[in-house]
Order: sequence, then C-alpha cells, then structure tokens
Amino acid sequence: MNGAIDTEDEARRVLLERVVAEIWETGMLTGCYELSAPVVRALVTVPRHLFVPPGQRPWAYTDTALGIGCGQTISQPFIVALMTELLALRPEDEVLEIGTGSGYQTAVLAHLARRVYSMERIPELAAVAVQRLQALGLDNVEIRIGDGAQGWSGAGAAVDRFDRVMVTAAAAEVPEALLRQLKPGGRLVVPVGPPHRTQDLRLLCKDARGQIESRSVLPVVFVPLVEERAA
Ligand code: SAH
Repeated sequence: MNGAIDTEDEARRVLLERVVAEIWETGMLTGCYELSAPVVRALVTVPRHLFVPPGQRPWAYTDTALGIGCGQTISQPFIVALMTELLALRPEDEVLEIGTGSGYQTAVLAHLARRVYSMERIPELAAVAVQRLQALGLDNVEIRIGDGAQGWSGAGAAVDRFDRVMVTAAAAEVPEALLRQLKPGGRLVVPVGPPHRTQDLRLLCKDARGQIESRSVLPVVFVPLVEERAA
C-alpha cells in the first residue's frame, strides 16, 4: 500500500471536479461547457505533482499556475483543460506544441494524440521534461530545443504538417510559420497579446481550402513567447 499515492490520486480527482465546474461556469464565454471523456481521463491520469519542483508539490493540486524555474510557469489546470478540449484531438492526430515547459501539457496531449512534437527554447527545462515523460513511459513524444515561433524545423518541416497546434506562451501575433504548418481541417490554440498583460486566448481553424477562421475564447495571462529573431 502506498498512502501518499492514494492521497495524490484523490487530490487530482477533487481538482478535476473543480475544473469541470469552472468549465461549465465559463461556458457562456468560451463556448465550451463540458470536457469530453478522453480529456477527463487524460487529466485524471497525468500526475501533475511530478511536473513541479519539489517545493511546489503542496500546491500541485490547486487550480493555479506554479513556478517551474527559469522564470517560467506550469499553466493553471483549468486553462490546460480548456485548451486541450478546444483542440478536439483525435487518436490519430499529430500535434505540435510550442513551450514544453514542465512537460505537463505535453503529457496530457500524449495521452490523446498519436504523436506530440514539442519545442522549448530553454534547454534546462526541456531536459527535465524529457526525463519526466520517459519515466511515465510516454514514448510518443519528441522534444526539440529552439524557437517554436519558427515552427518545427529540420527534415520534418513542411507546410500542412500538423493536425493540431498548441502554443502555451503568449505571442504578439499568431506566428505565420505555425499557420503554414497546420493542415487544412486543423486547429490551433494560442494566447495572443502583449507580455505580462491580459491576452486573448484564440482558436483558429484552417478549412479545406486553407482559409483561416479565428475566434476569441477567453482573456488569459501567459508568459511571453520569446521570438529569437525579434531579440
Ligand atoms: N505547457 C507548459 C507551460 C510552460 S510556460 C507546461 O505545461 O508546463 C511556456 C513555455 O514556453 C516556457 O517554458 C518558455 O520557455 C517557452 N517558450 C517561450 N518562448 C518560446 C519559443 N519561442 N519557443 C519555444 N518555447 C518557448
């Protein structure tokens, strides 16, 4: 018997109930009233306490963003749930995530999609995230260090490459490279707005002809997407 594990499972369930209630309460604003069963399963499965520094563990199952070092944060569980739901993932999807951070959102996506490609600009964070994902046996994830605003680089780079794209840092504008790498029929969620102010969480859909439709979902505050070229 492992008492600590039981407590964490229970804490995760209680948090999820709260998140489900919050999703319902904000439905008028977001257009999303419920979490689908696979998203609930993923959130109940991924141990958030293993994705925060030991000093933050007591707060791992509160509905708040937490510091993960290097001036970065793991997102609030409600926001993770909402962004994941908005992507409407299918088991066969290939997903690009920008901003690996702790790897928590990556793990949630890995439970729902065929493969997750995640980019992180801070090597220290990427290294720890890789270890955590491996320890959990999530082998359908590839993490690369670099500027995700330029999209997935190298041999795999191509237009219409990804079924879904999630950006977990706030961009001044929706990065063009990410729109190009999104497949027709694909969905992209991204917070857009100035650094350290209220930003606009957006859902963009690319139709079969490549036209983009965008809608505002919710005011949010994310750490900035740091674009290397703009520096
Ligand atoms: N999804 C993460 C949230 C991390 S916060 C989690 O669940 O923990 C956002 C992350 O985006 C930070 O780790 C930051 O370093 C990273 N980031 C910022 N700009 C970036 C860029 N241009 N390319 C890749 N990663 C970036």
